[in-house]
Amino acid sequence: MRWFDAHNHLQDARLGPEPERWVPVAAAAGVAGMVVNGTCESDWPEVRRLALRCPSVIPAFGLHPWRVSARSPGWRGKLVEFLDSTPQAGLGEVGLDRWILEQTPERCLELGVGPRGPAPLEVQLDVLQEQLDLATERGLPVTLHCLKAWGPLMDCCRGRPRLPRGFLLHSYGGSAEGVPEWVALGAYFSVSGHSLQPRKASHAAVLRAIPRDRLLVETDAPDQMPPAEWVSHPAVDARGRPVNAPANLARIAEGLAVLLGMPPWELAEHSEANWLRFFGRPRSVV
Ligand SMILES: [Zn+2]
Repeated sequence: MRWFDAHNHLQDARLGPEPERWVPVAAAAGVAGMVVNGTCESDWPEVRRLALRCPSVIPAFGLHPWRVSARSPGWRGKLVEFLDSTPQAGLGEVGLDRWILEQTPERCLELGVGPRGPAPLEVQLDVLQEQLDLATERGLPVTLHCLKAWGPLMDCCRGRPRLPRGFLLHSYGGSAEGVPEWVALGAYFSVSGHSLQPRKASHAAVLRAIPRDRLLVETDAPDQMPPAEWVSHPAVDARGRPVNAPANLARIAEGLAVLLGMPPWELAEHSEANWLRFFGRPRSVV
């Protein structure tokens, strides 16, 4: 079986100074491709470097909703430059987040929001629309982040031309009832090891509502640590805190297959076909 990580942040400093060392480790664990998502102007160069260096990496560039208030006046031009100069690049991680607006200033700083604090939802929405316009013009696959903003995100997608390549709702945390309309709007869904937390048990019914031809799996490394039994590659950051590694995907997917009520080989087959259809074929996969 081989696996394709629909969403991670290999460029994140918590994965160490030479994050490309994770790529062969992940490959040995059955991970044949990964989409590495940028979040802000300052991490786009590292995402591009990793993509050019590692043939199994497909890059995505975008302004994450947490980073919107830290954007420079020239952010859009820079984004276009990264999209233009990197083969196979998609748009991501972009989206809407109301959860972050409920966090304390200290917590926001810890999460890397920036000194100005999180941008209000209206501003997040403006920046998202601008980025979706770019994806429409260029026919790019889009990766969306959404926390506690499912209504506004659906209104945004309903109210604009359909994205030509569709979009991925990463680490899907919406409702089972919402799935059919998302599918009609062009959505794919990826599930992460977060769904394996015992307190998320009720979420299994939501995951089973996702059509097989729209289902992908992800690590969201270095975030979304699964419970210890689903960690094949324990790792820590420079401060000794546990981090999720891209190499955990195969083990996480085994757990997700149980949750979804299908054999792992079937999940591998569907998630590979969906990943390749949505993101394209990485240089390493023939
Ligand atoms: Zn992410």
